[in-house]
Amino acid sequence: MANALAGKVAIITGGAGGIGKATVELFVAEGAAVVIADIQDEAGEALAAKLGAAAVFRHVDVSSEADAQAMVDLAVERFGGLDILFNNAGMSCGAYPSYLDDRLDDFDRVMRVNVLGPMLATRNAARVMANSGKGGVILNNASIAGVLAGHGMMTYRASKAALIQFSKSSAIDLARHGIRVNCIVPGHVRTDLSSFAEKGADGDLAARIEEGVNAVYLSNQLIKRRGEPEDVAQVALFLAGDMSRHMTGAVLPVEGGVTVGDPVNH
Ligand code: NAD
Repeated sequence: MANALAGKVAIITGGAGGIGKATVELFVAEGAAVVIADIQDEAGEALAAKLGAAAVFRHVDVSSEADAQAMVDLAVERFGGLDILFNNAGMSCGAYPSYLDDRLDDFDRVMRVNVLGPMLATRNAARVMANSGKGGVILNNASIAGVLAGHGMMTYRASKAALIQFSKSSAIDLARHGIRVNCIVPGHVRTDLSSFAEKGADGDLAARIEEGVNAVYLSNQLIKRRGEPEDVAQVALFLAGDMSRHMTGAVLPVEGGVTVGDPVNH
């Protein structure tokens, strides 16, 4: 597939790293112009510089209403409209062993970034898409943590479950404007977010936890390798382009089959 997004304008939140960065690169390679919206200025500027005129970086904290409006305005001013929004930015919380140890400031921040962020961006982007008369596409990046229960990371799990429900509900709400809304549900993907060093464990401990978690995932996945950011980016491309034109309100797992069966019988 080449030029699947020719002439399209996209915003990708969290576009400076991980899954977002892989998606920015793929969308530009497929002909889109992309606004990279992220809080990591250095990485975002470097990526935009590498991609040339087809990409622009803007410092955006998705939990800020003003920033959410500014990124939509930038897409319209720089590229003449907006066709695709990928609500990808997200954060996890500390690796607390139990909800009894979860911290309230973590709860506030995770909910603001993972739930309020996509809601603000969707509202601002959908207004532009509806007024253009051409409709558009909105993608949300949830997680299997929003589908599968477990102990630990409960705030994160709750935030991603909320995002899945928001995604399905906005598909219903925005259909009348020709806007399709779909949700991606990644499993275990090799990025900073899934690194235990990022969650506060020290070097050795982080490496050991990571090894253990990988082993558990791989034993339960049907596809026996860890997910890479590009695996998710390919699905985002499919959902952003015309090949998925008859899909909306979908919740699509990209998790190597980890949620398919009963792990006891794998
Ligand atoms: P990542 O940490 O590599 O990338 C996340 C990006 O979002 C970073 O560039 C970060 O700077 C940006 N970001 C964080 N907070 C932001 C904010 N407030 N405003 C704007 N940008 C912000 O992580 P990733 O794994 O690529 O995560 C991308 C999405 O995928 C997240 O929503 C995450 O929850 C989801 N996800 C990841 C995994 C995984 O295993 N890595 C699994 C399931 C779901």
